[in-house]
Amino acid sequence: MILRTHYSGDIAPELDGKEVTLAGFAHETRDLGGIAFLVLRDRKGLAQITLVKKLLGKDAFKMARSISRESVVQVKGTVKAEAKAPRGFEILPTEVKVLSAAEVPLPLDPTEKVECELDTRLDARFMDIRRPCVLAAFEIESSVLQSLRDYFYIHGMTEVFTPKIVAAATEGGTDLFPISYFEKEAFLNQSPQLYKQMLMSAGMDRVFEIGPIFRAEEHDTRRHLNEAISIDVEVSFANDQDVMELLEGAVAKAYSYVKENCDYQLQVLNLDLQVPKVPFRRITYTEALEMASERAGVTMQWGDDLDTETEKFLGETIGEHYFLTDWPASIKPYYTLPYEDRPEVCRGFDLMHPRMELASGAQRVHDHNLLVKRIEEKGLEPDGFEFYLKAFRYGMPPHAGWGLGLSRLVMTMLKLENIRDAVIFPRDRRRLVP
Ligand code: ATP
Ligand code: MN
Repeated sequence: MILRTHYSGDIAPELDGKEVTLAGFAHETRDLGGIAFLVLRDRKGLAQITLVKKLLGKDAFKMARSISRESVVQVKGTVKAEAKAPRGFEILPTEVKVLSAAEVPLPLDPTEKVECELDTRLDARFMDIRRPCVLAAFEIESSVLQSLRDYFYIHGMTEVFTPKIVAAATEGGTDLFPISYFEKEAFLNQSPQLYKQMLMSAGMDRVFEIGPIFRAEEHDTRRHLNEAISIDVEVSFANDQDVMELLEGAVAKAYSYVKENCDYQLQVLNLDLQVPKVPFRRITYTEALEMASERAGVTMQWGDDLDTETEKFLGETIGEHYFLTDWPASIKPYYTLPYEDRPEVCRGFDLMHPRMELASGAQRVHDHNLLVKRIEEKGLEPDGFEFYLKAFRYGMPPHAGWGLGLSRLVMTMLKLENIRDAVIFPRDRRRLVP
């Protein structure tokens, strides 16, 4: 028997009379005596298999009606239009095979009738992802990546990979995971920032990288993990405004692509996706502080980082994606370019969804001496950055770029409560397995 000719989702009443072979999981079994139902589930949907003793033969019928839930099964049969069946058809099988039987009891119930604890779900993630609403998010995530890659190529960009095993911190301060690297100490990289900037000096002009970043922060929130996927972009001969346009375009493109290509998944998630309109609103840090001061009990000073409460307030007030621009140079990294005429303000920006930050970016410092000065002002040691600074001494184009968190983009797009719902095997303070 050919392993599969169709997915469940590809079958419709119009295929009445067609012989098909389906393969998937035994989602449900119902036994009514002389007739029994097996609901087969694959990643595109469910199909009702009506087990008729006369068609299957006595032994096969007996075997088929006793299949344990979630076993892997293969069914060959004929499509029959049947108004009473879900989606208007049933399959009348001539052959039913169990390719791999599932043990009883299951570690969790993938039929979504029972809601269970996140930890239980993550412990049995393979089973959890069999739930259509969990799987849907990851399929959409893949579509988001496809749309972004398309978008970057259309914008003349080159995809690159930079090392994740590195000798130095990108920003000092931020916690890094140390690893042993032969006789040396090394770290897992917290961001491709320094490397993608060096590629501007390499003349690569416009690059993007989609890869993991590692943060050894002990945060325990619904939007932080210790390993995350970052979508990083760096563009030569561009300023902050240029890459903000590139960024809002990327986000809008991801939404519209998902809306056009992920019907089934959006339906499973019960979402009517609204594509955000570009351009996104631009609000300066100073304006944001003023808005926040309308709220009672705000004690923030110019120069303070915006706290979660303020971000939340701004998000609720603005209600859609927006950019926060013109940050105090003191709270943005050393590689962010200060304005020439008011060096206390810099060309750094954050892309915000009403719920949280999605991306950070900036026009970068491309002047070697200014960069050294900025590193020193941040209390860091330029010697430790020699491999990076060298790339600024032999011709460095002006450049700008950003880093966008993939899971945050997906979790806000799909209204997921927890970033762990947008990461297949999340890594946090407590979880290293599976
Ligand atoms: P936050 O202020 O939300 O902690 P950040 O400013 O420290 O984030 P950046 O260094 O600006 O993060 O990283 C760029 C983007 O990468 C962030 O906007 C976010 O989307 C994503 N990101 C950063 N850290 C994490 C993390 N620990 N878990 C998930 N995504 C992250
Ligand atoms: Mn940031």
